Amino acid sequence: MKDLPTIIQFCKEHAFDLDFTRSKQWKAEKEGRVAVAYLPIYFPREIIHAAGGMAVGIFGGGDRKQIIKGDAYYQSYICHIPRSVIELALDKQFDHFDGFIFPSICDVIRNLSGIFKQKKIGKFVKYMDFPQNFLPEIGGQYYQQEMLHILQYIKEINGIEVTTERLNHSIRLYNRNRQMIKFMYDIRQEYPWRLSIEDVYHIIRAGTVMPVEEHNELLERVCKHIQNDLGIPQDKVKVVVSGAFCEQPAVGLIKAIEEAGCYVVDDDYMLGSRMILGDIDATTDKPLEAIANAYIRQSQYSSSIYDVKDPKEFRLAKIVKDRGAAGVIFASASFCDPSLLDAPIFQNAFNKMGIRYIAFQYSENINQFKVIKEQVGAFSDSIKLWEDEPAEILAQ
Ligand code: SF4
Repeated sequence: MKDLPTIIQFCKEHAFDLDFTRSKQWKAEKEGRVAVAYLPIYFPREIIHAAGGMAVGIFGGGDRKQIIKGDAYYQSYICHIPRSVIELALDKQFDHFDGFIFPSICDVIRNLSGIFKQKKIGKFVKYMDFPQNFLPEIGGQYYQQEMLHILQYIKEINGIEVTTERLNHSIRLYNRNRQMIKFMYDIRQEYPWRLSIEDVYHIIRAGTVMPVEEHNELLERVCKHIQNDLGIPQDKVKVVVSGAFCEQPAVGLIKAIEEAGCYVVDDDYMLGSRMILGDIDATTDKPLEAIANAYIRQSQYSSSIYDVKDPKEFRLAKIVKDRGAAGVIFASASFCDPSLLDAPIFQNAFNKMGIRYIAFQYSENINQFKVIKEQVGAFSDSIKLWEDEPAEILAQ
């Protein structure tokens, strides 16, 4: 698999394989392997890898899973992802997973972990609280205990005790993974026509359902290809997408934003794979501490992190500036409290800073987005036409 279209096609097929075929195969290939599923936003996959396991991302059923039973578990006024996750579980598409990790982000995810526990899905279910205290000796210690708790669950299944060497090896693999994903975005910042955001999305999402070693090989090839002069530049404005970090928009919507006249030069679609900025120290004799410290000191801004000392609106503004973007598209899943509660904070700050934006809501299973496409088209046209006008006027 050497040429870029073949790699992209391969990633497309794996990214939305709701039967999780690759992790099933991988687990069956060797005795003692465990497959552990995690939900958005972020989970330190390194620790599962070091324990002889494979961490697999679950991002809902998107527009590819019909919900029949899932609706019975939830009221109508919450987001869609928990319904499709339940549907996938009840249809036994998660049956090969040994355990499930629900990172703390909102009440919906917490309640979903409770349903998994009640229904005894998997050998373990862990609702994982992430620290909101950013002192290494308090929040960092707590985070290490949470990781040790998960490692204990896995040891009870396969008997593997993680060592410093194993953890550092896993950290190095994921460091490489993050470096190459960053490289893709850095290339797109200058030459967004070389690889569409839809392709980037498929490539990163595929990495959440296959072994990191295989994903790294794919990324090496992609990175090599996009150093060449590919594609033809188009008259589009560069934008950043923010707010879509958990329930994922349908791929058609991701594509529609670029078709409507924008180049998405940064986003938070697959935030978990890009959460840690820079490398995690893989040379220390305290690797769990290194992972915890990286989360505390090197995390991307996120609605799930209490960041009063480093406000997210300024961090997003810096991304806009650094990427040379002309505006922001706030895309939130319907009824997504973390995203929708942050939106006014961003928007008030951006009105003052003069950063242009639009906002809309989506649902993972809705693939009709003519109105959104028109809105995005009008946004990109307005930027092109009134580049010198104050953004406060354009943001009305
Ligand atoms: S989409 Fe939003 S509200 Fe729904 S589970 Fe995810 S973070 Fe929570």
